[in-house]
Amino acid sequence: MSPSEGELEEINAGFRGAHPRDIIRFACERFGDALAVSSSFGAESACLLSLAVSVRPDIPVIFIDTGFLFPETLAFRDELKRRLKLNILEVGPAMGHAEFLARHGRLYETDPDRCCEINKVEPLKRALKGLRCWISGVRADQTAYRGAMRYLERKGEDFFKVSPLLSWGAREVVRHIRDEGLPMHPLWERGYTSIGCEPCTSVPGDPSDPRSGRWKGKNKTECGIHTFLDKK
Ligand code: SF4
Repeated sequence: MSPSEGELEEINAGFRGAHPRDIIRFACERFGDALAVSSSFGAESACLLSLAVSVRPDIPVIFIDTGFLFPETLAFRDELKRRLKLNILEVGPAMGHAEFLARHGRLYETDPDRCCEINKVEPLKRALKGLRCWISGVRADQTAYRGAMRYLERKGEDFFKVSPLLSWGAREVVRHIRDEGLPMHPLWERGYTSIGCEPCTSVPGDPSDPRSGRWKGKNKTECGIHTFLDKK
């Protein structure tokens, strides 16, 4: 049964200070098999993934291969898949990458929102169809938009988003990864603290803002996968 608005408030209040594993456990108990976790296999993705499989080893992991990812990201995906025995559900844009480039060229330069819509948001929408819950690794300290998020949010009539890492910072995340004996993304050692598609990712210019290397020089901080449900 869907939680009422009052119950949502109570649940979110109860999650304050809870360990992310307990929040994932709640989601698995509440939503059964109708849930999935998403991962970009970015800098710190091993954290959420290791927590998720510790609760449900075969939890589906939605991974969007945009066609623009670093080869290191694909290698990192393969390594984590092997080490954590991940059940990866890989999705991609409806249009093949070569056709996309032929038709749109460097759309990521001229209209990055449209590029993200085609290559990230639309594939995610397809992957979420039929589910009741999406677990994501966003953190409140990453962007102003994320700072206003809650652990459990209604995003449709009977669709919910759960963000177990919301109150963790980079320090807790990295500590958890180290404690689990898992790797960071290979580019992390080279200064990439937030990693997405290759054309839109660089080493952050502002060390105090780990995401400042994303869409550098553009008025864009979100690709759209965490905001599209708000626009519905
Ligand atoms: S992050 Fe860049 S390359 Fe990737 S989908 Fe968005 S605009 Fe396109």
